[in-house]
Amino acid sequence: MANHLLTRRQAVGRWLAATSIGIAARTLWLSYPAQAQVLPETPSCGPDDGATISQTEGPFYTPHSPAKRNFRADAPGAAFTLIGFVTNKRCRPIANAVVDLWHADASGAYDNSGFRLRGHQATDALGRYVFETIVPGMYPGRTRHFHVKVAVPGQRVLTTQLYFPGDARANSGDSIFDHRLLMRVDNASDGKIGRYDFVVNVA
Ligand code: FE
Repeated sequence: MANHLLTRRQAVGRWLAATSIGIAARTLWLSYPAQAQVLPETPSCGPDDGATISQTEGPFYTPHSPAKRNFRADAPGAAFTLIGFVTNKRCRPIANAVVDLWHADASGAYDNSGFRLRGHQATDALGRYVFETIVPGMYPGRTRHFHVKVAVPGQRVLTTQLYFPGDARANSGDSIFDHRLLMRVDNASDGKIGRYDFVVNVA
């Protein structure tokens, strides 16, 4: 089926061209138009859902990361595109939220002297962010994860982590893993695309 998949660039372009908060990303990665139709709204935010849970920033956070959304030149590794919305609990997209991403390289090591695999961006007018990066490696005691801070002006910063659904065994062995922070990960023809929508406590 791999030849039916879009490239990451094509898939993200299609996602960015859509304007509804309720786009089901999975359908957009397939090149068959019949399968690529937009499904009914399935938001991760809503009256029955709380805000995205917070988790520790861990020992490897470096403040003042550069504005950077493409980490691919920072380190070798398997291509991974991370996309999503920042919304409030009523599913309203939050523009200009600052999403700060940092993570280990493919061998599980952090750059603690510079800003490789570290960067931030502001969400667009529809509350969307897109990072181009690599799949991080695991390191002792931790399953595979991304670290993220989401800052909305005037609000407390959300600090959390994102997890990979393909690592069930390692996830279950990580004491701070939380299934509510699992990305939805789909294959593109040239890598993987992970989707996670952050829901923040904003009126
Ligand atoms: Fe970490």
